[in-house]
Amino acid sequence: MTAPNLCPACGARNNCSMASEQIEDQPCWCYSVSIDPQILQALAPEQRNSACLCPRCADVLSQLPPASTQQLT
Ligand SMILES: [Zn+2]
Repeated sequence: MTAPNLCPACGARNNCSMASEQIEDQPCWCYSVSIDPQILQALAPEQRNSACLCPRCADVLSQLPPASTQQLT
């Protein structure tokens, strides 16, 4: 089982708003970025459906403001 707040690919925190009680009322970072479809297709089906990727695995760090990427380390 994969926790909804962990990246299914690398196990790091994905900072998904939906999985965080503190920020679940805020729009998730994943709404503001565009993830390369090739990255999603490279995942196993169970990885795709279990949880959000972390921004690093989704290769969207360059699309996020610095403040939100600092929370990921
Ligand atoms: Zn990851």
